[in-house]
Amino acid sequence: MSSSDTPTVAVLGTGIMGAPIARNLAQNGFPVQVWNRTREKAEALTEGDTTVHDTPAQAVRGAQIILTMLADGDAVRETMEQAADGFEPGAAWIQASTVGLEACGELAALAKEHDLAYLDAPVLGTKAPAEQAELVVLASGDEGARERCAPVWGAIGSATRWLGDAGQGSRAKLVMNSWVVALTEATAETLALARALGVPGELFLDGIAGGPLDSGYAQTKGKAMLAGEYEPSFPLAHALKDVKLVLAAAEAEDVELPLARGVAEGFGRGVEAGHGEEDMAAAYAGLVG
Ligand code: NAP
Repeated sequence: MSSSDTPTVAVLGTGIMGAPIARNLAQNGFPVQVWNRTREKAEALTEGDTTVHDTPAQAVRGAQIILTMLADGDAVRETMEQAADGFEPGAAWIQASTVGLEACGELAALAKEHDLAYLDAPVLGTKAPAEQAELVVLASGDEGARERCAPVWGAIGSATRWLGDAGQGSRAKLVMNSWVVALTEATAETLALARALGVPGELFLDGIAGGPLDSGYAQTKGKAMLAGEYEPSFPLAHALKDVKLVLAAAEAEDVELPLARGVAEGFGRGVEAGHGEEDMAAAYAGLVG
């Protein structure tokens, strides 16, 4: 614990989302202990009382709150297993990565085994909202740790929705991402069709602008597609992971999602063509080459 009552937060994973999250925590006065598999990314974090550690176990030692922001369920599990030697008994674990329902349950079991309070708390918002501390936290899990974690969520986001038992946050996240990935694929396919038919893509975006068919997301991603600008805010490979998580969750409930299957196929093409680390807008590149 720091000299005040401000808890020390360990942030495991300082990629596109984890880095600005760690930065905002440090700027809000939290002592922050970071670890990232590729250490150089973590070393860019120099705000406030931030320390970079060589191993997950070193990063979590002495931290009352652990926040994981890693690629997927496997990465989170492997990292937390490596961190286990350093856990503070009773520490709260805010699991913010998008891992889907099966992994969420497995991670809850891992938390219980190690006497950690588990908060299943994925976030809405991409790179820019993370940088501006405007994420929306879909929080759920150990009610007893909710109050302790609230200042952390306050430092990284503009709103926290408390959704109940662990698993509810991940369920809500999949619902939201079902919409995000469908909108992206619909935009990519519409622009690919426009291109094939010799219709300027800009005509489509102008045509929907400001009307009931418009969406800020279609405009932003559509313009990026037409410009071929794929600097990653949300990498295509993670979007493919998420649509697969959506499909797995639906299948477990015997719900058919033909559109999501199509999105997985479209995103899969983009990833196979080498666009996985580019922004999800590169789904368009996967269609038009
Ligand atoms: P990212 O930039 O690709 O970061 C992924 C992080 O996971 C990096 O720190 C990476 O380490 C680490 N990692 C990957 N595999 C690992 C492994 N096997 N062991 C240990 N560490 C591993 O992605 P991101 O956009 O920050 O996304 C992180 C999570 O947030 C994902 O679950 C994503 O779906 C979710 N999310 C993303 C957004 C978004 O818009 N970007 C929004 C909401 C939620 P290295 O640096 O060494 O590769």
